[in-house]
Amino acid sequence: MTYSPTNKNKHVPQRSCVICRVKGDKKNLIRIVRHPEGGAVIDIAGKLPGRGAYICPDDECISRAKKSGLLAHSLGTVINDEFWNELEDYAKNHEVDSDMKIRSVLGLSRKAGVLIIGTDNISANKHKLLVMTARDCSESVREFASRYEENITLNMTIEELSETIGSGGGVQILALPLTAKKAGFADKIKNMAARHAEGKTERGTAIE
Ligand SMILES: [Zn+2]
Repeated sequence: MTYSPTNKNKHVPQRSCVICRVKGDKKNLIRIVRHPEGGAVIDIAGKLPGRGAYICPDDECISRAKKSGLLAHSLGTVINDEFWNELEDYAKNHEVDSDMKIRSVLGLSRKAGVLIIGTDNISANKHKLLVMTARDCSESVREFASRYEENITLNMTIEELSETIGSGGGVQILALPLTAKKAGFADKIKNMAARHAEGKTERGTAIE
C-alpha cells in the first residue's frame, strides 16, 4: 500500500484567493490576469501569461473583490462592470469542491471576526452556536462538540483546519454564531456540509 495514485494529492499546486486568503487547489480557484491593453480577463485554461490573481468562485468573494477594489489593485488595472458580470456568470458554472467553499467561508468569517476558536472560547460564548470539529479531533473534543445541538464534523484534518484559518496549528474545534444577525456564515456552512454529505461517495473517490 505504499504506492498509491492518491499520493499525488501532495503535489497539487496550491494558490490563495486574493480576498479570503484561503489556500486551495489551483483548479478550484479562478485565475484572472491583467490584459496587456488594460482591464482584466479570466484565464480559463490557466495558461495566460502576465500578472495574475486567484479568486474563489464564490459570490461572497467576488462581491468583496468588487467593492474593495482589491482585485483591481492586485492586478494593477481598472476593472469594468462588463468584466464583473462575466466573472459572476463564469463563477456560477465553475465546479468546485465543497471543501474549498467551506474553507473560503471559514476564512471570511475569521476575517470578519466572528469565528470562535477552541473549546475555552466556545464555552465562554453564550450565543447559540454551530460547532465544527476537525475529522481527526481528539475524543474529548468530539465529546465536547456533541453537547451542542448543532455540531458537524468537517472533512478537514487539524492541520488543514489550522492552515485554513491561518492559525499556528492545533485547531481542533471552531464555532460560528447562529444568532439572527450573524448567522450568515454558519448557515452557509450548514448548507454546504449537508450537500457534501450527500455527494460524498462520488467526491470521495475522485482521482484525477
Ligand atoms: Zn475567497
